[in-house]
Amino acid sequence: MGLGYTGKILVVDLTTGRIRSETVPEWIYEQFLSGVGLAAWYLYRHIPTDADPLGPENVLGFAAGALTGTGSLFSGRWMVVGKSPLTGCWGEANCGGTFAPAIKQCGYDGIFFSGISPHPVYLFADNNTAELRDATDLWGLDAGATEARLCAMHPGRKRPRIACIGPAGERQSLIAGVVHDGGRLAARAGLGAVMGAKRLKAVALAGSQRIKVHDRSGVLRLSREVSATVQNQPPFVSGKVAAYLGRLIRVLPTQMETDGLLYKMILRKWGTVGMNQMSIEMGDAPVQNWRGTHHDFDLDTSSRLAPEVFTRPVVAKYFCYSCPLGCGALVEGAPGAPRGHRPEYETAMALGPLCLNADSDSIFQMNEMLNRAGMDSISAGATIAFAMECYEHGLITRADTDGLDLSWGNSAAMVALIDKMIRREGIGDLLADGSRMAARRIGAGSGRFAMHAGGQELPMHDSRFDPGFALHYAVEPAPGRHTVGSFLYYEMFQLWREIEDLPDPSRFYLKRRKYDTDLEKARMAAACSQFVNLLNAAGICLFGAFLGIRRLPVFQWLDAVSGRPRSPEVYLQIGANIQTVRQAFNFRQGIDPLVIRVSDRALGRPPQSRGANEGRSVAVEKLLKDYFRQFGWDEGTGRPTEKALGDINL
Ligand code: SF4
Repeated sequence: MGLGYTGKILVVDLTTGRIRSETVPEWIYEQFLSGVGLAAWYLYRHIPTDADPLGPENVLGFAAGALTGTGSLFSGRWMVVGKSPLTGCWGEANCGGTFAPAIKQCGYDGIFFSGISPHPVYLFADNNTAELRDATDLWGLDAGATEARLCAMHPGRKRPRIACIGPAGERQSLIAGVVHDGGRLAARAGLGAVMGAKRLKAVALAGSQRIKVHDRSGVLRLSREVSATVQNQPPFVSGKVAAYLGRLIRVLPTQMETDGLLYKMILRKWGTVGMNQMSIEMGDAPVQNWRGTHHDFDLDTSSRLAPEVFTRPVVAKYFCYSCPLGCGALVEGAPGAPRGHRPEYETAMALGPLCLNADSDSIFQMNEMLNRAGMDSISAGATIAFAMECYEHGLITRADTDGLDLSWGNSAAMVALIDKMIRREGIGDLLADGSRMAARRIGAGSGRFAMHAGGQELPMHDSRFDPGFALHYAVEPAPGRHTVGSFLYYEMFQLWREIEDLPDPSRFYLKRRKYDTDLEKARMAAACSQFVNLLNAAGICLFGAFLGIRRLPVFQWLDAVSGRPRSPEVYLQIGANIQTVRQAFNFRQGIDPLVIRVSDRALGRPPQSRGANEGRSVAVEKLLKDYFRQFGWDEGTGRPTEKALGDINL
């Protein structure tokens, strides 16, 4: 058994209540590492064709990475996986906090649930036990109250680490996520609805087992070097400077290769909201349901969402397990409201400029409501923007909205609407399953206002600004994710410094070259997919990986943990193996990747007539063949070939 793994998974049948521990064959770790790789292998084998995502055949998995608990930094990410009820595709969401090490400290690399419990339950596990317990009294509680109650119920030496659902998951909202640590969400793909359908309220873990490591002092030496890089923080002047930097990026015809050190500096000072104004100015943040520009949300307006506005009420910085950076923060709420997590960039943009809302107090309030309910803030904001555009065009009226005036920027109506979506009440019930489903119910051509990829609402990174996002929104087996790749990410990962034949971007280049549809772009995208799969199999945070592969020694950490050195090429091949299983999973579920569509507006069809992305469109279809070929899949259909499947023993 390779070191760094526990070698076991916990398998729970919620219908019968049967729980068993299974040993994982060594070759699985060789081919897929752990984390998302282990989970992809398990779900591929155990979810039958055409499984109902909310039915008993779907499997919901929680997995920790190979580096988690080994002393390597940024290694506290955990994955929740299943067939997505939102897209029908491979579903995964990723979260930080302290739950990832808790899985391994109970002696497992992953925990998998099938079936449907006859009544609400939660799983409790520690060093000695794993059992389902009655959760009838927890059903109906929000996520914060659920965690508090479970901690009080388990007052042992070790506080349990908890992943749970709130009311949104219980009501099977298709945009519900899984909540951890008082408001951190594994938000995407609607996996909270799967948990709700299974009547699994929570997973509470209180183990304390240690993870064996081949060369712990080597791991720690590498970690000290990373820590020194992260702690070195030159003064970074103000949010306004970041905003003007965004404006400069917008107006220059050339672009400079991006170094993730700048991003790290912003994250360390303000967290992800440090990007708010900068992204609007440079054209990365979509405005007014993707039809607006920085003209519609100008610098004066966006200053109400400046980084300093979101930083002011900080109570304490928030660090995930083994993170030296700490991009999160616990903040005071609005007057009279409880303290909670600071909104993230995605939340601030989805509930801000996407809906033309510049009222930061309302964003704090909605963030807390969504976190407690366990609802994805990206999808919630995008669905509200969709509803506002429908309202503007008279496709829905006050008679449909329970009297709410859904004019752009009406923050009070947004707060009321979020409340209704969480409760599935009136117009909220219509919107609680996301924009694609709402468009089907409203009809009248409203689908053109639903901005999604394959059913998942698009995140707050404009694919007309970085066409690499467009490709990943379209080709990823979990469509519409922003956490996999873009040309910007490729530059920050700096993989070509370790892997010889990968494209080396020019230090300076003309911006319009990003829109070329050449083989190089497909190779860069494939490398991102492979590398991010590897990160998700290792449990590493994407923000750490933005430091670049020379500064974040993922390969060397894996070597030191396992005692089995492998080349960077072999590690990327593991990422490719995982991509093939995820793609094969979709084919087994009847998903044709060629019919997964990114909404026209996000591809610049038609192009915008002004703003940062004026005149830009993305010919994403032209890149598909070359992307598929990088994985040995059929280039016409994207289907993994017999050989590609045989190479990984599927
Ligand atoms: S950088 Fe942020 S998200 Fe990543 S591990 Fe650290 S605190 Fe968590």
